Amino acid sequence: MSARRTPRRWSPRPTPVNTEPQHRRYGAGVEVEAYLGLLFGREAGHAFIELRWRHGQGMRHAFIEHTRTLAATRTILQLGRRTDIYVGVAPRTRRHGGKDAIDRVWTLWADLDNRAARNALDQLPVKPAVLVASGTPGHAHAYFLLTTPVTAAAAEIANRRLAAQLGADGGSVTNAATILRPPATFSHKTTPPARVVLERLEPRLASIEAITEGIAADPASTEVRQSVHGRRGRASDGGDPLRALDPALYFEVLTGETVGRSRKISCPWHEDRTPSLHVYKEPAGGWHCYGCARHGHSVYDLASQLWDLDTRGPQFLELRRRLYDLFLPGHTPPGAPTNHARRERQHPQTRRAPDIDGPGHDIPDL
Ligand SMILES: [Zn+2]
Repeated sequence: MSARRTPRRWSPRPTPVNTEPQHRRYGAGVEVEAYLGLLFGREAGHAFIELRWRHGQGMRHAFIEHTRTLAATRTILQLGRRTDIYVGVAPRTRRHGGKDAIDRVWTLWADLDNRAARNALDQLPVKPAVLVASGTPGHAHAYFLLTTPVTAAAAEIANRRLAAQLGADGGSVTNAATILRPPATFSHKTTPPARVVLERLEPRLASIEAITEGIAADPASTEVRQSVHGRRGRASDGGDPLRALDPALYFEVLTGETVGRSRKISCPWHEDRTPSLHVYKEPAGGWHCYGCARHGHSVYDLASQLWDLDTRGPQFLELRRRLYDLFLPGHTPPGAPTNHARRERQHPQTRRAPDIDGPGHDIPDL
């Protein structure tokens, strides 16, 4: 090992980080690498770990291949000594920090920003596998590792439900593109900087259903449910309440885009600076993009295109099951197998998440 280290200039482009010897802070290195291993280790595709750190008045970021956890660890430890550094919790499919670079989410999380939220962890059906004290007194981040990955939309709904249940932060930190402080770094909000401490790291996996079992539905879907029940049973929707969903509501839940007065939003399928996707007021009107001509008449049509599932055959059953889990948890679709039969079935592999940029870009003050 050479005793001298060359000062490195950091650029927003990916940097070859494992080319020179480091001071080994053995304990810290093991902690960070194990943490990254739990977050990214089961991703089989081509993915990146996003690191973001404060630099002067702004932020910089780097994307490191998700298998290179040692390289990422070194970067984290080195930068963490002198600045605030964060890790994107979900793997990125490309060198981009937004939600449209997230296909699969392997983790749920909660930002416990008060003591009561922390104590409430004990009441959850599944205990978090990872607990990190974030450097602000009384604040911690809890991570729940999923047996099977879920879409960004499903993770966000589950995160909001967990936050509401725990009395934790239900804001932008629930976003799938969230970045959180890795352990063994420092919060430089204070002088001297406060340690970010790994309090728990256990390889405990659970399904999204097990983690959220018995937890109240997402506030957004409760609103949806009321709107659904109000319309239930109309002949025009074939007895399926999801066909009567307000298009603005299902767009918001599935894509994170709020439909404003203009009823135009940015199309999730292409670069769309002047929003060209029109969301109609009446359920039957559906939605239509005047840019790419994609359109649909129900939440099924939208989810089908976002998740790449067919609206017919076995894929439709999967599509409908997922939509019911999102919008009407605990309810069975008309003519579907019972809950018991459903549990017996193997859950198929998760498909693509909505390809959309969400509001999660700003740096949370964690
Ligand atoms: Zn379009």
